[in-house]
Amino acid sequence: MKILVINCGSSSFKYQLLNMDDRSVLCSGLVERIGADMGSLTYKKAPGSDVERKFTEQRPFADHASGMSRVMEMLCAPETGVIGSLSEIAACGHRVVQGGEEFTSSVRIDAHVLDVIRKLSPLAPLHNPPSVQGIEVSMNLLPNCPSVAVFDTEFHASMPPSAFMYPIPYAMYEEHRVRRYGFHGTSHGYVARKAAKVMSRQETGFNVITCHLGNGSSISAVRDGKCVDTSMGLTPLAGVMMGTRSGDVDPAILPYLAGQTGMGMAELDSMLNRQSGFLGVCGMNDMRDIHAAREKGDAKAELAFAMFCHSIRKYIGAYYAVLGRVDALVFTAGIGENDDLARAGICEGLEGLGITIDPARNAIRSGEARKISQQGSRVRVLVIPTNEEIAIAESTMKVLGL
Ligand code: AMP
Repeated sequence: MKILVINCGSSSFKYQLLNMDDRSVLCSGLVERIGADMGSLTYKKAPGSDVERKFTEQRPFADHASGMSRVMEMLCAPETGVIGSLSEIAACGHRVVQGGEEFTSSVRIDAHVLDVIRKLSPLAPLHNPPSVQGIEVSMNLLPNCPSVAVFDTEFHASMPPSAFMYPIPYAMYEEHRVRRYGFHGTSHGYVARKAAKVMSRQETGFNVITCHLGNGSSISAVRDGKCVDTSMGLTPLAGVMMGTRSGDVDPAILPYLAGQTGMGMAELDSMLNRQSGFLGVCGMNDMRDIHAAREKGDAKAELAFAMFCHSIRKYIGAYYAVLGRVDALVFTAGIGENDDLARAGICEGLEGLGITIDPARNAIRSGEARKISQQGSRVRVLVIPTNEEIAIAESTMKVLGL
């Protein structure tokens, strides 16, 4: 059974064709700079295998439709092809960032669903409009192929009101839908389920804190397989410190800075989303560069790293209190999977909570799910590579009963 997974951004989209019979990736890639004078297409055949082949094209792609039709051609072409014809694609799974309160689980896409996703755009202005476009294009190109929307927010739909409401006038929730939605849900759900499996536990009775640490980062508290709290909020700006995003700050900073500098709302929003976090504090936003700078004694890089670890440690403590008992702490995504220094820095001083890392295990690099806590650590600390595409493909099959 072949499932095509599509993740659309405003000027780019990522795709992956999965063979769900053996969970292998037939091809994956990315089309970028759609609409610009020069665009680029990357297409990897059998990625990650011994016979991986990479094809790239530099040429303009006027819109998502032209990029997607080129990818569809390549899927069946003699040299690049991985399937005989497009009819082999059983279904399309689309990542959609914001499902609001309307979609608390993945759903088969029809005209009504598409309309609701479009109407949710004010809550995700950068994300939902390109998803709508990508869905329309792929449905045109694959008219007989059912499509499913898998929402970033759906895993967090189980949060209780005490966790998702903000202490501001209730009318802001009723009239403007201001509440915590949470993001990275597909990843949090995937690694939480995997953690239970790795520990041979049922999800019922299993409490886990999941740390998705990448360019964007978020932490979730999961009880019985259900999210009970998460660090991102109305938007993915909230929570822990990130690559270019501030995470939680005193909201009064905004009116204060507006008064002091004359900056407008759009400028302030851009500052918090694009010029803050690691980039704002030390001028770099890739963790590898930050470690290199720390090695050379860069005080701002050291400060930024300490702030990052501190902000995550605080969430771990908070979610420990929310859950009451924690069976596992999971690290995933670019930093969580690859950066032993960050994992060690975050867990430093958490021994009192029963979280003790084994330095030798932590230092091992691997693409496999693994335990990095010491024997006897009350909380099992795990590194679990996330796989949002597989999770989207699995949801797609479940919704369609495939
Ligand atoms: P993601 O958003 O999950 O793709 O994560 C991207 C981020 O992961 C990058 O910006 C880096 O900061 C971080 N990262 C990736 N590889 C490594 C590595 N080997 N060591 C430290 N950080 C890494």
